[in-house]
Parts: sequence; C-alpha cells; structure tokens
Amino acid sequence: MTEHAVVIAGGGPTGLMLAAELALAGIDVVIVERRASQDLDGSRAGGLHSRTIEVLDQRGIAERFLAAGQLHQALGFSGIHLDISDFPTRHNYVLALWQSHIERILADWVGELGVPNLRGREVVGFAQDDTGVDVELSGDSSLRAEYLVGCDGGRSLIRKEAGIDFTGLDPSTSWMIAEVEMDEEPEFGFRHDRVGTHAVNRREDGEPIRVVLTERRVEHTGDPSMGELREALVAVYGTDYGLRGASWISRFTDMTRQAVSYRHGRVLLAGDAAHVHPPQGGQGLNTGVQDAVNLGWKLAQVVNQTSPEGLLDTYHAERHPVGARVLHNTMAQVALGRPDDRHQALRDTMTDLLSMDEPRRCIAAMLSGLDIHYDLGEGHPLRGRRMPDLDLHTADGPTRVFTLLHDARPVLLDLGEPGGFDISPWANRVRLVDARHDGVWQLPVLGEVAAPPALLIRPDGHVAWAGDLADPELPQALATWFGAATPVH
Ligand SMILES: Cc1cc2nc3c(=O)[nH]c(=O)nc-3n(C[C@H](O)[C@H](O)[C@H](O)COP(=O)(O)OP(=O)(O)OC[C@H]3O[C@@H](n4cnc5c(N)ncnc54)[C@H](O)[C@@H]3O)c2cc1C
Repeated sequence: MTEHAVVIAGGGPTGLMLAAELALAGIDVVIVERRASQDLDGSRAGGLHSRTIEVLDQRGIAERFLAAGQLHQALGFSGIHLDISDFPTRHNYVLALWQSHIERILADWVGELGVPNLRGREVVGFAQDDTGVDVELSGDSSLRAEYLVGCDGGRSLIRKEAGIDFTGLDPSTSWMIAEVEMDEEPEFGFRHDRVGTHAVNRREDGEPIRVVLTERRVEHTGDPSMGELREALVAVYGTDYGLRGASWISRFTDMTRQAVSYRHGRVLLAGDAAHVHPPQGGQGLNTGVQDAVNLGWKLAQVVNQTSPEGLLDTYHAERHPVGARVLHNTMAQVALGRPDDRHQALRDTMTDLLSMDEPRRCIAAMLSGLDIHYDLGEGHPLRGRRMPDLDLHTADGPTRVFTLLHDARPVLLDLGEPGGFDISPWANRVRLVDARHDGVWQLPVLGEVAAPPALLIRPDGHVAWAGDLADPELPQALATWFGAATPVH
C-alpha cells in the first residue's frame, strides 16, 4: 500500500489549492480525482473576488489569472451592482474568468510544485484508526495517509462516509443552465416575469451563448433534455431563437446546506464538500479556495509535528462561521430575487440602501471576502483580519507584504527599531523581517487604523498578533500558532 502524509479526494479548485499549500510546506500530498482530465463540462463559476485574488497574490501567482480574465469594478448582490473601486486593496475589482480556466491555471501550478494527481480514479471508501486513514480507491487499490481531506464537492462521499451531518434548507427554486448555439440573435440581458429572473448572455464574440432560466417546478431528476430547454425558452421569450444545439445543459438549485463539523478525527472537509448554496454573488469557488488556504499551513504543521493536532480545530472554528455567513447572504439574495410585487418593493428598497456608501461597503466587503475577521481575541483591529499588502522598505530594497508570503511561511514584521526581539527559538519556522512603511493604514469597512509597531502574520495572510515587540503576548502567540520555542544553545 502506498503511503502519503495527506490524501486529497477531489482535484477541483479547492483540492488543487490545498495541494499547492501543502506542497509549499514540503508535505507529501497526493490528489485523487475522478475526472480523467482537468476539462470541465460547462462554465460554473464565472470569476474571482478580491480576497481570492489577494490570496493568489500572496503566493506570487495572481498575474497568471489576471492575464487570462477581464476586470470589472462592480460586483452584484442579487443583481444590484456594488462599485468597489474605492476599496483599499490592489485588487479592487472582480476578475471575470470561467472556472475551466481557473482550474487549468491552478492545475498547472500544482504540477510545477510536483504534486501527483491520480486522475480517472475515485475514492470509494476509507477507514480511519489512531495513526492514519486507509483510503480505498476505484480499481481495487488503496493508499495509506495520516490525513484525508474531502474536497470532493457537494455530494461528498467523504462527508457521508465520515457520518458528518449536512444540515440546512432543501431547494425552493431550480434553474436550468445551458451553453447554446442559436441561429437568431437572442435578447441579451435579464428578463423578469412571474416565474422569476432569466438571463441570456455571452461574454465575448465567438463564445457560446449562456442561458439561465428559472424553472416552474423544483423537483427534477437528472439533467434537462434539449426538448425541455426549447420548451422553457419558448415559455419565457415566446421563441427558441432558432436553437441549433447545446454543448452543455444542466440545472442547479438554491439548496443551502453546511457540514456541522469540518473535521472528524483524521478526516477533514473543504469547499463544496463542506458547504453548498446557490451561486448568487459568485462565492462558492472563492470560499473553497480560501478554506484551503486556511487549512493548508495548519495541516502541514500538524503533519510535520510543529504543532499539536488541536491546531486543526481552529480550521473549523474560523471557517465554519465564514461559510455560514455565505449561506445566509445567498438565502437573502434568492429571497430578493423573488418575482412578486412585494419582493420587488423590497428589492427597490435594498437598491436604494445599497446606493449609500456605508451599506454598499459593508455588503461588498462581505461578498469580496475582504472583511473576514477570525476571532483571535482582543487587541489591535488588525488581529484576526487580513494583512494589507503594504509597500515596505527593507535593507534589501523595496518589497511588498504579499511578496514576503510567497513561500507560505509565517512572518514577524518589525516596523520599529530593529533588534527588539530575539526570534531564535522560532527562527526555523518564522521569518523576522525589519522594514519601514510610510503611509496610512486603511482597512476595508473599518477605514484608517493606527499603525502597529510590529505584526505576526500567518501564512494565510491573517494577523495573529499586532503590538509592541516587548508585549509578553508575542511569545505566547508564536507558540500558539507556530509551535513551542526550540531551546537555543
Ligand atoms: C451555475 C453555477 C455557477 C457558479 N458560479 C460561481 C461563481 O461565479 N463564483 C464562485 O465562486 N462559485 C460559483 N459556483 C460554485 C463553484 O462552481 C463551486 O463552489 C466550486 O466548483 C467548488 O469547488 P470544489 O473544488 O470545492 O468542488 P468541485 O468543483 O465540485 O470539485 C470536486 C471534485 O471532486 C471530484 N470528485 C468527486 N467525488 C470524488 C471521489 N469520490 N473521488 C475522487 N474525486 C471525486 C470531482 O470530479 C471534482 O473534480 C457556481 C456553481 C454553479 C453550479
């Protein structure tokens, strides 16, 4: 039986990001992916939000995505446009890029990092014991791992086999989605009627036309047929616009569920395996990638015995509330999109509210992931929040905070007089950087905050501690997040 430290079930966006994070930390990881190639049927996610682009920037690969997509300065809350060009981030926009391209770019990076990807194979079962997990694969083979992570999507076998409940709401609405060719020019844009909102669009000339139609019934079995698609088009638009063919027809619903626990012993869940919700606001893929970045360094530290197993519990503690909030806002977005007059009145009211700066910033920061705040205790407002990508001056020349995070290792950033702290007991894990920053500190929603003299930045870019280097909490924070001090001889 082949042994690996970590087996990842599922090589979609979440599994790929997690594999990369573990590989950067030197962990022996393997992906098991059911699909024979990275090719994806249909379009699914349509882009990346600010915080995800920042996270990719923290690893030095944001440019690969930016070069392939298109920037839009507004994001949508149930179709209400929210401008984010005034947000204090280098990435104050949405990057329009189809999931197939996002996965291809991530898969190339994972390949460069040397992670084996067992494609065309499936995890069909597992059994965990005190020291590891036996992972059963299709084709009558198995793997042994210290940890198994289910990144295997909404119907996750790992979640079901681990006995983790997936609680929430059954669907109330179903949508048909297709990529089609039509002889006639359709009516592009949104159309609202008594059934709901329908949309026809095409991002670029030469691309297939994308159709999303609200269905009259919720209960269905399987994907729709061409006949059903034609019928649905005629019911909404009075014509099928000379529908010639469809490269892909599927349906999705507003089912909204979350795993009650993201961990069961040596088995963890991330991405759609841990949370499903409708695509309003475009948050699913983004949340999964950010789950992976939260989990990766923690799992690496537990595997290489830098930290005790308990560090893994902070993954659930931090990411479950973030997932719950996403579920909650998608429920609100679905409700706002209901077609009757009373919901339209509510929608008009929300549109008015969101034209004001404070509500707009608040909702947009939530959708873009820029306001995520892990509860790491009292202290400086940055504690638990994302570290802004400041321009820094160091003895080696100018740099940026995100550049310091490319290798996914923690950084103690000293912005005061050098020499105020002895990092030797953690020097094999934490990099001390002496730097200077001239300028104000702006955070999304909060606005300007006081510049702290020093910060401890986790590999996921969140601030674990901020304060004066003489603060007795600093050694404690180093030990909590990056393991006990090593005796220095
Ligand atoms: C119509 C639509 C539009 C969307 N739009 C957006 C958007 O704009 N923005 C956004 O952020 N999100 C969007 N999403 C959501 C997004 O597509 C998902 O959240 C995202 O794909 C989740 O990634 P994942 O890697 O967690 O899971 P998945 O992408 O589902 O990947 C799971 C992988 O696991 C593999 N697998 C499954 N079972 C096994 C097994 N037993 N063994 C091995 N492999 C297995 C599958 O083949 C798959 O590759 C949209 C979704 C839909 C349906």
